Amino acid sequence: MTRKGKAGRPLAQPARQPGAFHTPRKRLGQHFLNDSRALDAIVQALGPLEGKTVIEIGPGRGALTDKLVERASRVIAVELDRDLAASLRVQHALHPHVQIVEADVLDVSLGELAGGPYVLAGNVPYYITTPILFHALTPPRADLAVYLVQREVADRMGAAPGSKIYGALSVNLQAFADVTFIREVGARSFTPPPKVESAIVRVIPRAQAHVEPELEAPFRSLVIGAFGLRRKQMLRVLRTLTPLDATACETVLRDCDIDPMARPETLPHEAFARLTLALAQLGVTLRGS
Ligand code: SAM
Repeated sequence: MTRKGKAGRPLAQPARQPGAFHTPRKRLGQHFLNDSRALDAIVQALGPLEGKTVIEIGPGRGALTDKLVERASRVIAVELDRDLAASLRVQHALHPHVQIVEADVLDVSLGELAGGPYVLAGNVPYYITTPILFHALTPPRADLAVYLVQREVADRMGAAPGSKIYGALSVNLQAFADVTFIREVGARSFTPPPKVESAIVRVIPRAQAHVEPELEAPFRSLVIGAFGLRRKQMLRVLRTLTPLDATACETVLRDCDIDPMARPETLPHEAFARLTLALAQLGVTLRGS
């Protein structure tokens, strides 16, 4: 017997829940979502999927994958765990629009894997959440991404300048995308439950980013370098990160409308974008880059 997906696609019945006999591997951040309302919230946040390619990060036992497979035209699921990847392959053997890739997501170019426009979804492994979020910022970026992350990371992603949790992650995301908090997900929604609360977050790249594509790498380095010195004033930050002397640093900062006495944690992403552009125009590269 076959069942039909939301897109009218006939779907073969799964033989059994993939990975049902799999013991969760702590070192791979395996906390499987068992809450249908949270799963539906992720799907809803992704919007209509008909005609779209979805890349899923860390499909695990496939709870979210099943929902994506019913709705999207193409699903590419990237799973590091060999046993889970093998189970998913069996589970989706009769679904030609599903590709299971056994790989470390950080080693995969998501844009190349999709080969065209794509959206991104994932209940991501918490031990590498920030590297995954940065990795997903590498162009060609997803048209939209929905992540399930630790609550604390969700808060940092959308934090405003001046708040204690505003940092390199907030600036890097907000310079390129709008971040929307969707909803909290409690620890008991997972098997096994993690030690922290979680949240669903949607990231939509801006049509007009504040940083030109060729300046994205120096922008990222500047922001990460500056927040490594978050309690220092910008004059000290710039003197530490560049070969410029104090007078030149002060001039550049003032030209960029940045108070030399301001601390990185108070600056909006636009200020870092102006500073990146000014340094590039002066031909100044950061020390060690
Ligand atoms: N999506 C599933 C769910 O919601 O039930 C599983 C989520 S679990 C938090 C994270 C998943 O990411 C696990 O299946 C784990 O094996 C996988 N994973 C861990 N590290 C990974 C990596 N570097 N690349 C790809 N997948 C990874």
